[in-house]
Amino acid sequence: MKTGRQWIVACFVLVCSYAVFAEVIVPNVIGDPYEEDREYLTIEGFKVYVLPVQQYSWRGYTLEQREDERLRAIRRVTAQLKLAVTLLPPDPINELRTRVILYMDDTCEYKDPTEIPKTVRTGKIYYSPLESKDGTDRKLGRVTIRCYSAFVHEYPYKGIVLHELAHAWHDLFIPNGFENHQIKTQYEWSKECLHSGHKSYWKTNVSEFFAEMSCAYFFRSKDVPHTDMSMSEKNKALVNAAWQDPPQLSEFQPAVGSCSDESQLTLNKGEEVIDRKRSSIAAH
Ligand SMILES: [Zn+2]
Repeated sequence: MKTGRQWIVACFVLVCSYAVFAEVIVPNVIGDPYEEDREYLTIEGFKVYVLPVQQYSWRGYTLEQREDERLRAIRRVTAQLKLAVTLLPPDPINELRTRVILYMDDTCEYKDPTEIPKTVRTGKIYYSPLESKDGTDRKLGRVTIRCYSAFVHEYPYKGIVLHELAHAWHDLFIPNGFENHQIKTQYEWSKECLHSGHKSYWKTNVSEFFAEMSCAYFFRSKDVPHTDMSMSEKNKALVNAAWQDPPQLSEFQPAVGSCSDESQLTLNKGEEVIDRKRSSIAAH
């Protein structure tokens, strides 16, 4: 039989452990504009809105098939979030949980069936900034996954959520966001000097540069450089400094001037044979 004092201690421990638990797993996205009218899932501590499947069947899928795709997409997002949470540094991950939501819907686009012999469904995955509902200028971020079936079938790369979270970190937490001078300068130099024989996706713009370098550094990229083993020392230092919490970019000196010896990076054999199977959708 417990005494009164033991009960009080037991209750206190219970409340404390709930508070710790809640802190870790319940996302606290202040000013989330969707909060009031939509249900969400909590996956790896991130808030994930998963819209129901559409109730009409112009795609020729039955409701059951669409529901099945939706569940498969949720499983995939779960696996990819788990990967990102495991590989990215923990403090930035906790910061991202408070300002980034994921949003999945059933909107698929079709290419013209007269041009292509079979119906092609396609979707998009992208990061975009989101205005906070609480009236402050505190910006939030949203990772949108459009078209469950496209995400399940057309994106073989396992690091896509990690890539999108890197965009979010760049935009929301790096000083001056996408305009950050050090990252821009390092991008311009890298584009000019590194891996000149490859049409890597990171050469698209500064935000893709940061996202792809983060993927290569913490996981692997679809393009050259595939892993940190073939990244330039400067770009490794950049990614490392940028993913501190808070970012430590003021001490980072971007490469400038003519292309140095670092531009002569050669790939090792292992890097060359990594499967470079591309997604049919380039932009993300
Ligand atoms: Zn991207």
